[in-house]
Formats: sequence, C-alpha cells, structure tokens
Amino acid sequence: MGEDCRAVEAGQVGAAARWRGAGVLTYSQLAALKEEIGASGRVLAHSVLGDMGGPLRAGDILRHATEHQLDTYLLPLIRGERACCFSLTETDAGSDVRSLRTVAVRDGDGYRLTGHKVFSSAGPFADFAIVVARMAGTGEQGSDKPRFSAFLVDLDSPGCHVEDGATPMSGEHIESDIVLADCYVPAANLLGEEGGGMRIALGRVTTNRLLHCPTVLGATRRAVQLTLDRTRTRQVAGQPLLMLQAIQHKVADMATELYAARSMTYAALAALDEGREVHAEAFMCKLFVAESAFRILDEAVQIHGKEGLTQGNEIEYLFRKIRMFRILTGTSEIQRNGIAKLLAFHH
Ligand SMILES: Cc1cc2nc3c(=O)[nH]c(=O)nc-3n(C[C@H](O)[C@H](O)[C@H](O)COP(=O)(O)OP(=O)(O)OC[C@H]3O[C@@H](n4cnc5c(N)ncnc54)[C@H](O)[C@@H]3O)c2cc1C
Repeated sequence: MGEDCRAVEAGQVGAAARWRGAGVLTYSQLAALKEEIGASGRVLAHSVLGDMGGPLRAGDILRHATEHQLDTYLLPLIRGERACCFSLTETDAGSDVRSLRTVAVRDGDGYRLTGHKVFSSAGPFADFAIVVARMAGTGEQGSDKPRFSAFLVDLDSPGCHVEDGATPMSGEHIESDIVLADCYVPAANLLGEEGGGMRIALGRVTTNRLLHCPTVLGATRRAVQLTLDRTRTRQVAGQPLLMLQAIQHKVADMATELYAARSMTYAALAALDEGREVHAEAFMCKLFVAESAFRILDEAVQIHGKEGLTQGNEIEYLFRKIRMFRILTGTSEIQRNGIAKLLAFHH
C-alpha cells in the first residue's frame, strides 16, 4: 500500500476500521508532505498523494462506506485503480448548497438521479462521482425541509454524461460537469442513510478544507522564495532590489504572514491528530491561509514588476492559482459565517 493510502486510513471508523493499522501517517505528517509537494513548483503537484481524483478527494467519505462500497469503489481508489470526483456544486447552488436541484427518485431497489453538477474537480478522468441529490417529494413546498442523500455514481452509467466544464483562471482544466438524466443508481450505492447526505458531504469538506491549507502554504512558500531570489538578482540604480528598505519591509511582512498561517495550520493538525474536534480551527485556518496567501502573492507580483505580470512567469501563474483559494472549498465569507456560528453557540 502507498503512503497516500495509509494517510487516508487515519481516523476512519465503520467498515473502513479494519484497514486501520501499522504505518498510518498522522494528519500532520501528511500535511508536511503536501506542503513540500506544493512548494516543489511542479506542474503535476496537485496529482501527487491522491488530491486530484485519488483517496484524498473522497476523504472521510470512507467512514460511511459499506463493505460493498469499500471493495468496489474506495479500496480500488486507494490502490490507484479507480479515480473519483466529488459533485455537490451546481450553477445555482454553490455556497447555498441546500438550494441544489439534482433530484433522486426511488425506483424499485434503487434510485433515479436527474440534475446538472458543475466544477467537479478530477471529473475528466474520474470513474465514479460522489453525488449529492435532494430526495424527491422533500423540500418542494415552502414548509417541508429538503432531505439530501449521497450516492456513488459510476460515470459510465446509462443516463450519466461527463461534459467539458468551464476553465478556471488558473488555466488548469481539471473540472467537469456531471450531467444526470434519469440515471439509475442501485440502493447499494447510497452512502450512509437516506437523508443523511448533506451531513456526509459537509463532513468531508471540513477535513478537506484543513488538508488543502498545507498545499496552499507550500505554493506560497515557493512564491516567497522566488521573490527573495528576484530581489537579490534584480538590479535597480546599481544595487539589488533587496537593498531597498521598502522592499525589505514587504519581504518581512510576507514571511511573517506565512509563518502565522503555517503555525496555526500545524497547531490545528496537531489537535486533529490528538483526536480533538477542530471545526472552528479548520474554518479559521482556511480563512487565514487563503487571505494571507492572496496578500503575499499580490506583493510577490508587485516586487516582480512587469515580470510578475507576464504570462509564462511562475509568479503570474501562482497568483492566479492562489487567488482561487478564497473561493474554492468554501469562500472566505462562508468560513467567517462558520466561525461566528460556532462562537455564538459554544461560548
Ligand atoms: C476550480 C474550482 C474547482 C471546484 N471544485 C469543486 C468540486 O470538486 N466539487 C464541488 O462540488 N464544487 C467544486 N467547486 C465549487 C466551489 O466549491 C464553489 O464555487 C464555492 O463553494 C462557491 O460557490 P459559488 O461559486 O456558487 O459562489 P456563490 O455561492 O454564488 O457566492 C458568491 C459570493 O457571495 C458570497 N456569499 C454567498 N453566500 C453567502 C452568505 N451566506 N454569507 C456571506 N456571503 C455569502 C460568497 O462568499 C461569494 O463571495 C469548484 C470551483 C472551482 C472554481
């Protein structure tokens, strides 16, 4: 078994518990690996460790899997034989996930799913999707509450089409639309209980938002390093840029923000490794890491001058890539909402 496999096994319960065992990476160790890969500057860095379509995309969905689901979907995922995507977002349902329109209708010993998911990362090469749908007959009148279920959907099922999605500003085209038209899904592919799908989906997002942070920290660290290199070699009025106090202060602020973001992330990961709940910390880390990375990258572009604005320059690419993180995996505003809600109810 690879290291990514052992990493994902950390903290699993239920049918997945039998796979817990020797050589498990802690979340902190996994994060350290992710940070190094993020700092490598390699084009395919996001595909290492199973972030893109591998076990980390399923994340703690494993907790809810039955023996059949583990054997058919999730263990092949861990072995690198199959890939998956996570399909929650729709055109009119992003932050407000409960307004999603994909619907599941019971049909004999299974369900029929109809809807249109957008921005499913890893969709172009995934074999199956984790799809969240509203149960038909719920949430239709104003007063009754919608109930959501999560399903494992084979992407080659009749009635399921993987379409070319939009290209985000990073320029990396690794998202798809998942279009379902009366697509039959057997009951054995229901994750957890009927009606428990939103809890499963949002639970996955909580762990994932913390585990995305080291990747962003790595990319930000690379930007700081590239900027320092640039200030040493770029000559202005006969001396390196780094000799200017205005530049020194910028670099000092960048390094300080990175240190703060990194410290809080590893503190939260250490708490997670101790088995503590880190809901508020995960929101805080996602918020601070995304916002500080954006500020750092903005200064990196500033210090690089026209080079930082030039297509093909690594800083220009990192700026676009990092900018997305204030929206991906829950926007900064949604993180603040989450923190405020937890403060209001737990203090
Ligand atoms: C590259 C990329 C990859 C993605 N990968 C996936 C994936 O694999 N699977 C998946 O399911 N989704 C994925 N997404 C979708 C992503 O999670 C959503 O884009 C994100 O959750 C925000 O939703 P939205 O874009 O619809 O923005 P909206 O919800 O329309 O928000 C617009 C603005 O309003 C603010 N806002 C909305 N509601 C509130 C509120 N209650 N309080 C305060 N402010 C609010 C937001 O913060 C934001 O600033 C991906 C998106 C991108 C761009």
